[in-house]
Amino acid sequence: MSQNQIVQKESLAAELAKLDVKHLLHPSTNPKAQVEFGPKIIFTSGKGINLYDMKGNTYIDGVSMLWNVNLGHGNKELADASYKQMTDIAYASAFYGYANEPTVRLAEKIASLTPGDLNTVFFTSGGSESNDTAFKLSRFYWQLQGYKEKRKIISLRRGYHGVTVAAQRATGIDVYRDFSGSMDPDILNAKAHVTECELGDKSHPEYEGSIRSIIEKEGKDKIAAVIVEPIQGAGGVHIPPDEYLQAIRKLCDENDIHLIADEVICGFGRTGKMFGVDHWNIVPDFMSIAKGITSGYAQLGGVVMREKIRDAITQFDGMLAHGFTYSGHPTACAVGLKNIEILERDGLVENAHRMGNELEKALHYLEDKYEFVTKSRVKGLLAGFDLMKDPDANIPFDESVKASVSLVDECYQRGLLIRPFDFEPGMNIIAIAPPLIITKNELEQIIHIVDDSLSALSKKL
Ligand code: PLP
Repeated sequence: MSQNQIVQKESLAAELAKLDVKHLLHPSTNPKAQVEFGPKIIFTSGKGINLYDMKGNTYIDGVSMLWNVNLGHGNKELADASYKQMTDIAYASAFYGYANEPTVRLAEKIASLTPGDLNTVFFTSGGSESNDTAFKLSRFYWQLQGYKEKRKIISLRRGYHGVTVAAQRATGIDVYRDFSGSMDPDILNAKAHVTECELGDKSHPEYEGSIRSIIEKEGKDKIAAVIVEPIQGAGGVHIPPDEYLQAIRKLCDENDIHLIADEVICGFGRTGKMFGVDHWNIVPDFMSIAKGITSGYAQLGGVVMREKIRDAITQFDGMLAHGFTYSGHPTACAVGLKNIEILERDGLVENAHRMGNELEKALHYLEDKYEFVTKSRVKGLLAGFDLMKDPDANIPFDESVKASVSLVDECYQRGLLIRPFDFEPGMNIIAIAPPLIITKNELEQIIHIVDDSLSALSKKL
């Protein structure tokens, strides 16, 4: 870049920063800090796992932005699919029985990939809308069966389900749950991952507050559905114990309660299988999908439902009073179709599995090297680890230390973007979830930066 070009870029960056501060309220951002310091990065472009900013910096995208850019950045095939569809017909409504080819084809494609008889899709524009839709359809199904009071939804602590009012109320992270502004008594939060309790061990010290205990207390005729992420993402990457999802499936079956799998992060290969539930061979009644369905190249989500639910709903001879303007958006669906085609053609689900094995080895190496690195967990390219003052004695860092934020900052200074979680006292979790196209070499670059950053952090602790 010539000196002149550098000066021009700097002045454009300064102008945008000023406008940003004045006119943009950022999601999931500290608004006071944003106004004080302006945007942290102004992105200009991306290629593969790399992102570029206005100041000429390069970053490795170690979390696929919001765990969604699974095919990586700058994918021309996805851009071409979008261009072609926009040129043919960018938008067509799916209300009033209208149809269009990419929407129908994508629904059929999804049905061919999802397990069991999850064969019908209701499209949305994102994950929160998908979860709200699943709650409504579950309640509607029970209403059609004559159970008008079967309405309550049980979700898990540390589960994240989005920010529309119901999805956010179901989110088990207090700072989000409280912001929903709703005290909806029909959405209840249960303890996460207490397998023995869900299997029926009432003498277990964790029993109170388990899903099973809530069903007993409320009565099964009051509960419509249980919602879980196969692997919790924004709650800090928590992989359930091996028998957990099967136990929940059984519990729901025994009590005639729907199971909603929130696959918004896990779906479309992230965990090294097409869907998170595929690791445990269960078939939920509803599956919420979004993010990886288009790798973030278009806003798309959906709820996939089992045949008995579809059959009951299609007996209803009135208007289904639910639908988003962008339900079944043709351009988003065309991008989704191309995205899945590339995922399959390039063996990216398998790559996520292989690279996940490499990542697991690397995180074990870092655990051995740094005493304060612990609890590493990996499924495909969804990984997390904890930072603790004394892992053996289970002693967290003092809150003033801000260990996870500091580590993420060290990585940022070295050109790697990853994500910290510290929303509970003593919690210092780091998430790594790079695009599924990542090569072994690129993964090694990530680990090298994390290693260097841990070394720098260890000197400050
Ligand atoms: N569900 C899960 C598991 C998520 O991780 C997210 C977003 O991060 C959502 C739902 C909400 O999706 P969206 O932000 O597209 O509404």
